[in-house]
Amino acid sequence: MQAEAVPAYEMFIGGEWTPSRSGRRYQVFNPATGKVLAHVPKGDGEDVNAAVDAARKAFEAPAWRTIDPSKRGRLLYKAAQLLRERLADFAKLETLNNGKPLGQAKGDVAMAARHFEYFAGLADKIQGNTIPVPGNRLDYTLKEPLGVTGHVVPWNYPLVMAARSMAPALAAGNTVIGKPASFTPLTLLKFAELCKEAGFPDGVVNVVTGGGEEVGGALAKHRDVKLTALTGSVETGMKIMEIASQNLSRVVLELGGKNPHVVFRDADVGKAATAVLNGIFTNAGQMCWAGSRLLVDEEVKEEVLQKIVEGANRMRLGDGMKPDTAMGPLVAESQRERVARYVETGISEGARVAAGGAPPAEEGLDGGYFYRPTVLDGVTQDMRVAREEIFGPVLTVTAFKGDEDAVLKANDSEFGLWAGVWTNDLRRAHKVAGMLEAGIVTVNEEPITFPQTPFGGFKNSGNSSEQGMEAVLAYVRTKNVSVNLD
Ligand code: NAD
Repeated sequence: MQAEAVPAYEMFIGGEWTPSRSGRRYQVFNPATGKVLAHVPKGDGEDVNAAVDAARKAFEAPAWRTIDPSKRGRLLYKAAQLLRERLADFAKLETLNNGKPLGQAKGDVAMAARHFEYFAGLADKIQGNTIPVPGNRLDYTLKEPLGVTGHVVPWNYPLVMAARSMAPALAAGNTVIGKPASFTPLTLLKFAELCKEAGFPDGVVNVVTGGGEEVGGALAKHRDVKLTALTGSVETGMKIMEIASQNLSRVVLELGGKNPHVVFRDADVGKAATAVLNGIFTNAGQMCWAGSRLLVDEEVKEEVLQKIVEGANRMRLGDGMKPDTAMGPLVAESQRERVARYVETGISEGARVAAGGAPPAEEGLDGGYFYRPTVLDGVTQDMRVAREEIFGPVLTVTAFKGDEDAVLKANDSEFGLWAGVWTNDLRRAHKVAGMLEAGIVTVNEEPITFPQTPFGGFKNSGNSSEQGMEAVLAYVRTKNVSVNLD
């Protein structure tokens, strides 16, 4: 039997499939099997220069620069429509490359389409003001696109994060260069091709693949890249901000989290337990807003913990392509090792493993990068597992006593992305929501977001908000025009 050929992808620059200047390539893997899935160009600064050149020319060309903004919106709609038509193909590719269950990947592709649809509607509503000034003058502001923007995205939601970041930039009239994470470049490459088909002029949507520093760093450093948007880790965010400071170019940072579910004694305990399970084990816990810290009133702690442990033990691990899989593998062996190291650290710090704590023993999973849904009980605020982002299927459990203690513990973190409040007391819900140091708070439900609601972190979780109308403001500059009418 002939071995199946491994597909080779190229980068997407100036509307063309383009090999890397150096000719170097690397392999990407299916994390459920450990098998090679594709070959991809290993781009570097030279490729970034070529992409920026193409994007700058496209930005300056009348076909994009002077386009009717509502037509720009229709291009975004068209891309969303094509994505919906090919949802099954994109979802399959995402599952094969990232490992997540197919149902979750389908949700991701639909969400990517939603981001394009939402910002499509905004394309002709980005407007300035007239400002009353002394004398016989007309004073007004213009909101102009910046030029070329770079979008560096992570591997946990490869297509959605790229779509979420690029959509407002395109709606505002910029041209974009996407830089997917090295592990998961495939859906974004296909999406760039789809944007061409939707009618975006060549060079408006580009994708360069390769390493973080070589490609992401080169983008942030380039004088013609006017904004670099990173969805990624705090460490990378700091690096990008430092590099971009050399040009005083803008940075939009959506970074990590160590997010608390705060469950009060008057909460619906069953609902809370289900939400906590989903909030940490969806996407194998590889989520910036994973509810990775359970803070629970000491009075109901044992009841909540028992439900969560039962749920974690029931969860079926497997290849994301199988319909009964609830949790897929981690994205790479290095990520699994990181999770295992954190669990060992937690144990050595005094935490107790209430569920999981090891790779699965089931047959058929040995080729992939699986790790069992894990619950660490008896975790105290000083432990590393309570403070650092593990980015895997590990929940820490800490008891609290009273509202003040709950809020203190929830806010005792360098991160501030998401927090969940569980209570049936309306006053407590609003009061605590107001006191939490987090950019996103949900009350009595799982982490939830929509393209029209802002998504951004406080503290080390980021410096801005994506989604919602505000997101577009990062991608425009304000020009004031004063006209003397005498
Ligand atoms: P990462 O920071 O390692 O990588 C993110 C992207 O940055 C990748 O494309 C990578 O190649 C690139 N990169 C890495 N080093 C770079 C450098 N020196 N210069 C420029 N670019 C560089 O993060 P990751 O491991 O891919 O993703 C996980 C992180 O992303 C977690 O911390 C998670 O919380 C965060 N995240 C945040 C959000 C959010 O909306 N706040 C969403 C998803 C993921």
